[in-house]
Amino acid sequence: MMLSHMSRRSMLKGATALGALMATSSNVLAQAPVRAAAGPRAPLPARGEFVIRGAHVLTMDPGLADLPSGDVHVRDGAIVAVGANLNAPGATAIQGNGMICMPGFIDTHWHLWTSLFRPYVRADVDAFGYFPVSNRLGQLMTPEDSYRAVILGTAEALSAGVTTIHNWAHNVRSPEHADGELAAMRDAGIRGRFAYGPAQGMPDDQMMDFAGMARVQRDWMPNDGMLTMGICSRNVGAMSIGGAARGVLSIDMVKKDWGEARKLGLPITLHTSGPSPIRILEAEGLLGPDVQLIHPLLTTLEERDILKARGVSYSMAPVGEARRPSAVGVIQLGEMLESGVKVSLSTDHTTNYNCDPFVAMRLLFAIHQHRIGNKVPLSTRRLVQLATLDGAVDLGIASRTGSLTPGKRADLILVRTTDINMAPVGNPYEALVQLAQPSNVDMVVVDGRILRQAGKFTALDHAKVLSDAREASAALRSRANWPPA
Ligand SMILES: [Zn+2]
Repeated sequence: MMLSHMSRRSMLKGATALGALMATSSNVLAQAPVRAAAGPRAPLPARGEFVIRGAHVLTMDPGLADLPSGDVHVRDGAIVAVGANLNAPGATAIQGNGMICMPGFIDTHWHLWTSLFRPYVRADVDAFGYFPVSNRLGQLMTPEDSYRAVILGTAEALSAGVTTIHNWAHNVRSPEHADGELAAMRDAGIRGRFAYGPAQGMPDDQMMDFAGMARVQRDWMPNDGMLTMGICSRNVGAMSIGGAARGVLSIDMVKKDWGEARKLGLPITLHTSGPSPIRILEAEGLLGPDVQLIHPLLTTLEERDILKARGVSYSMAPVGEARRPSAVGVIQLGEMLESGVKVSLSTDHTTNYNCDPFVAMRLLFAIHQHRIGNKVPLSTRRLVQLATLDGAVDLGIASRTGSLTPGKRADLILVRTTDINMAPVGNPYEALVQLAQPSNVDMVVVDGRILRQAGKFTALDHAKVLSDAREASAALRSRANWPPA
């Protein structure tokens, strides 16, 4: 071992040097643990072997029927078998009676770094809205704040049954901020894509940090399928909403940023809140299946045909979108489905609403009925597909997750049907879309690890996540002198 070759003297010298380095750091940073790929990590429960017995199994696999009373056998992180009365000697049995067993939700766009701003964001006062607060406080965040924000948001995601998250990180202020966000995703045990972004307040004519992205790819992506990577593009052209917070690029800058991303093989995600950039991007030959757009509100039939032809996907975040004035569009789920555009579901942020995939599906159903109705049929099963398998398709990981298919990784949840808001259950899809809530999520499994059981974390320290977030949030507010006088 290398240490045995080091003299006591050189070890002491090293310790002294480290102490001096720490003393020069700010107090906050000096106390913070190293958040790096090679740094210490929180322990996660082991991947074992278990079989869920007697659940109402919704596979979401088009080739596999649902089972009103079925079993799911998991071993070493993978789904081994789905069926009735499975033979699984040696597997720990988990009682699934009175539960729906289904793939975990896949959230395809979430600014986890904003989770600390919850105490300060108001939905009803523009000056304290999401954009001004995140833009101002975001510029003062330390890497440790990034960690605490992301682990708070990820903990909420898991508790609501989300097993894969697309972390839309458009406040990467330094390599250490990227490390903080990635360490939080790793420590929570969630599967996800880290979309490496610009930073709040960064000049629009400055390229993104592609050397930093290459480093993250090298250090953080061991090809175990848990963490993948992409980029958050700044907005294209003048945008009516979110422009200042997300940046606004000329088409020449878009070509530069996207060109570098593609050299690294990284998929691209972009908000389209306001006048649509789809035709501009198409004219430049920039659209492809590696592009995800956010907020389908204002597209034309011609644009949807372009998206379908290019294999572009669109992520919908209905709870936030429904609050926008009709001048910036309407929620176009029916139009997207009719045109055959790939769609998926997302939370966006949790600063002034919570993560609730059930409410997101319910709201989409209600708005669809309100706007379009049966002219474009929309079943509750289709909405559950939108929140699960379609998210995996959007993120390019459907061979790995999104359905309960033998051979895929075991990302699944159990939803209690005996709770007062659910019982007695008839059609399980109807129950999930119209009746369920996050508190009904009993068990959450990611990559074969049981991260929540009986509605509680098995390893993550809930109280510490909360107290760390509270402390960081209050410190940020005082550094920013928020609210402004
Ligand atoms: Zn967003």
